[in-house]
Amino acid sequence: NQPLAEVDPEIAEVLEQELNRQRATLEMIASENFVPVSVLQSQGSVLTNKYAEGYPGRRYYGGCEFVDVAENLAIARAKSLFGAEYANVQPHSGATANAAVLSAIATPGDTILGLELAHGGHLTHGMRLNFSGKLYNAVAYGVDPETFQVDMNVVRDKALEHKPQVIIAGWSAYPRQLDFAAFREIADEVGAKLWVDMAHFAGLVAAGLHPNPVPHADVVSSTVHKTIGGPRSGFILSRDMELAKKLNSNVFPGQQGGPLMHVIAAKATAFKIAASEEFRDRQERTLSGARILASRLVADDSRAAGVDVLTGGTDVHLVLADLRTSELDGQQAEDRLHEVGITVNRNAVPFDPRPPMVTSGLRIGTPALATRGFGDAEFTEVADVIALALQANPDVAALRSRVEALTAAFPLYPGLQQ
Ligand code: PLP
Repeated sequence: NQPLAEVDPEIAEVLEQELNRQRATLEMIASENFVPVSVLQSQGSVLTNKYAEGYPGRRYYGGCEFVDVAENLAIARAKSLFGAEYANVQPHSGATANAAVLSAIATPGDTILGLELAHGGHLTHGMRLNFSGKLYNAVAYGVDPETFQVDMNVVRDKALEHKPQVIIAGWSAYPRQLDFAAFREIADEVGAKLWVDMAHFAGLVAAGLHPNPVPHADVVSSTVHKTIGGPRSGFILSRDMELAKKLNSNVFPGQQGGPLMHVIAAKATAFKIAASEEFRDRQERTLSGARILASRLVADDSRAAGVDVLTGGTDVHLVLADLRTSELDGQQAEDRLHEVGITVNRNAVPFDPRPPMVTSGLRIGTPALATRGFGDAEFTEVADVIALALQANPDVAALRSRVEALTAAFPLYPGLQQ
């Protein structure tokens, strides 16, 4: 039982370097966050040793009396947080949650209708190379070419045209809220099941700052590691107890073997934290930070440099910078921000004239910095640094030192050693 640094110094070095990177840069990838130390503790605990195939009270292995407590807590907290009758907290990731959902509510060959990948949809909503595009007949609705928002008349027309068995509402890169009640009406009109994938905005829902899809959808899936800021993993919710059995069997044994009990314990803690006032405050700062970012990126000098914001603003935790008329493409803009110490990802914008590996957009998110403690003043400073970095010939060294001042003022994981 020697420490990692002795057993495997190369990997110990990776951990240390990654901790230093997270401390020294500004993390603005919209799908990332910083888990609290309490979550790191469960994930690095002896629960990782335990096999627990099955569900609490109905396991295929002995010795599950304590991990059952953890899973029952995670289930109860997830249900209470989102007002659901049913929760499954076993999915290893958002993608396996989604695979289980689709196999529970559709049959291979069925038609599924989701948001176009290139317009902000997710791989698991019907991408050609993903299981969802291979097993199902995937069709898509896109955003409006003028407003860049989802137009429910288009969704309805597509639904009437294709008669899908499943309609999917949810996104990975979209700066506005979806109208779940309107999706429900369309699903009822064509006899489809409605599945909402709230992976990105679940933390906002938990805090009551975004409409809750649970009352409208047949099934809701999510990740725990984006706005919620918990361990990397997924979960599934429903109000429909008739679907519950099917969903359970499609997670285990349908998609997975033994659940990751160390992660499930960490999910329980993340859901407990998500019910707190402190969490709500963090989600408010997340939203406010994104609004500040959007408004400062559409200032006149940004626009003169060809930087705009898709849909003109945001209702959620991210902003999509539109670089279609900028000299910088998405790759160059991502690299430029990396140079000043800000981490984002390039992202195709709808109707993108540039190729997918280059793109004309950036997806910039505020959840991780809100977790780090940032409020309006700091988000204003970050927004100005980004706006300046994306203009021609910026003073990279000066911007880098403004980033360093922010990282120094908000130490990450103080005292933690890896
Ligand atoms: N669903 C949506 C909407 C997502 O954005 C993502 C992650 O990017 C996922 C599902 C998949 O989550 P994971 O990466 O945990 O498989």
